[in-house]
Amino acid sequence: MNALSANTPPRNIVVLAGGVGGAKYLLGVREYAREHGAEVTAIVNTGDDATMHGLRICPDLDSIMYTLGGGHDQERGWGQVGETWTVGEELKEYGAGPTWFSLGDKDIATHLVRTQMLDAGYRLTEVTEALCARWQPNVRLLPMSDDRVETHVVCTLPDAEQPSAIHFQEWWVRYRTKVPTTGFVQVGAEQAAPSAEVLAALKEADLILLAPSNPVVSIGPILGVPGMREALRDAAAPVIGTAGLINGAPLRGMADVCLQVIGVEQTALAVADYLGARSADGVLDGWLVAPGDGGTLDAISVAEAPLLMSDAGATAQMVTAAVELAGQVR
Ligand code: GDP
Ligand code: CA
Repeated sequence: MNALSANTPPRNIVVLAGGVGGAKYLLGVREYAREHGAEVTAIVNTGDDATMHGLRICPDLDSIMYTLGGGHDQERGWGQVGETWTVGEELKEYGAGPTWFSLGDKDIATHLVRTQMLDAGYRLTEVTEALCARWQPNVRLLPMSDDRVETHVVCTLPDAEQPSAIHFQEWWVRYRTKVPTTGFVQVGAEQAAPSAEVLAALKEADLILLAPSNPVVSIGPILGVPGMREALRDAAAPVIGTAGLINGAPLRGMADVCLQVIGVEQTALAVADYLGARSADGVLDGWLVAPGDGGTLDAISVAEAPLLMSDAGATAQMVTAAVELAGQVR
């Protein structure tokens, strides 16, 4: 048993998160933290990052930054509100690719600042902090690594005879995952490490949460940074995950497709089993599932709670349920 309970809530919460689902979850974590006087640090997937038109783009960091900063487009589900597309249209007129990836004018400003700072030698952690000085997300955003680790997807493209590896963005946005796919690789992983900031955050945390983000292409790449699993395993804080699948289906996105590719059954319990128990070389102490999705797992405590992130208040309730579960593990 650890010290967390309703009477002694966590002070330092660390969340592992992907983009859109991660952002929604963090709205709830921030709400919980406001009520309980806690600090929140998000360790964010950068496996989706790409360079396009010479610009360094970090989709998951930006989704979270815009959402927590109140500047995201709720209807479109990504990017900034009040966005215009003049630069992108001009690029298309030149036939400058990739044409399947839309970049808004406001968004381009973010990428210009980021690219300039990276070129000047700043680490992505420092660049993210500088961008957040404007957006004030009230959550500390840390890229999972300052090193480039990009998710590539092994698939057979239309008209191709041999499989090839393409960037995650091309697979997701251009092909909508609708090509025969056999696996994911993390390009650059051998040379990558978590930043000192990430390692310190995990060490100082008294609660570590996994957002209900895509377990394969959002949480997976974070855990795939060499040293990350060890840092989680060595952390004093309990690690509680939240299922992104409810009744065997993702709420949005294509987590089911990704699970199929790696041969994991598309249920909340199977995902927890795949992430593994911390006491057995995995990462989890506890796993939160939707009502009716529960069951028993070896060395992972499972609890049921409503998991629909309909608004920040409902999502904060999910965090309360995670804190309660954390009080019961280890
Ligand atoms: P991405 O990086 O933009 O793809 O976003 P994430 O990986 O962070 O989040 C996508 C995941 O969030 C999907 O697998 C969804 O099932 C999950 N998700 C979205 N909305 C909800 C919700 O209301 N509740 C839960 N439990 N999961 C959700
Ligand atoms: Ca993503």
